[in-house]
Amino acid sequence: MATAKNATTETTAEKLITLYTLQYTATQLDEINKMQGELPMEVKDMEDEIAGLSKRKERFQTQIENLEADINKHKENIAVSNAAIEKYKVQLDNVKNNREFEALSKEIEYQSLEAQLSEKKIRGLEEKLEKVKEMAEGIDETIEAKKEQLDKKRVELEAIIQKNEKKVGTLERKLVRLSKKVEDRLLKGFNALRQRYANGLAVVTIERKACGGCYNTVPPQIKIEVAQNKEIIACENCGRVLISDELATEVDKKDRTVVVEEKPKRRTRRTKTKA
Ligand SMILES: [Zn+2]
Repeated sequence: MATAKNATTETTAEKLITLYTLQYTATQLDEINKMQGELPMEVKDMEDEIAGLSKRKERFQTQIENLEADINKHKENIAVSNAAIEKYKVQLDNVKNNREFEALSKEIEYQSLEAQLSEKKIRGLEEKLEKVKEMAEGIDETIEAKKEQLDKKRVELEAIIQKNEKKVGTLERKLVRLSKKVEDRLLKGFNALRQRYANGLAVVTIERKACGGCYNTVPPQIKIEVAQNKEIIACENCGRVLISDELATEVDKKDRTVVVEEKPKRRTRRTKTKA
């Protein structure tokens, strides 16, 4: 049929270029998909952090309430003591004998000591309260800042997802277009290799003296043959198609001008470019 003609009229170098372009495109798609998967995680991490801070804030709030309750209790104690002292002082004016006088004086002294003790306790509690309040306020500010960051991140995420959807569409169409140019046998092999290996690499360069896919040494004779671009040669170890640097660079250059400006921030370096 009409599509089969390419198999015979195309040179091996052309076939390799198409295969490598296919690989290049597929890798770009893989990277976008991977990044898409990671973005929501960043948002989730930020949400978790804010939830953690809010919990801490709640604990501070409880501490504040407890401290305030304690302070109030001591204030009540002081009021009770003062009332008692007032009462005893009135009684003091009407004492009939020395014993009564002494007993009342002792009571007054005891109640004053009680009041002083509560006052001292209040001072300690108030100091503590100030500190906890400061920490609670600090956390409030942090939470506010984190929430702002989170909002920004969500907007960013939405924008990236939309942009990526467009890019994914473009790349997928390109993948289909290129796939049609590759003869069936090669395409099947390419897809099988992409499925077999987690990094999705089916066509690789030789990096130093090793296969760019499995990192096993490529014999010098094979390396020479690959450089000649006359045959489609697979790595003896992993079966990936080996492509010469010359052809890879050609594809990289050509494709970079088209797609790279739109490419998202890279998280991982591609392995196929020369080290
Ligand atoms: Zn290999």
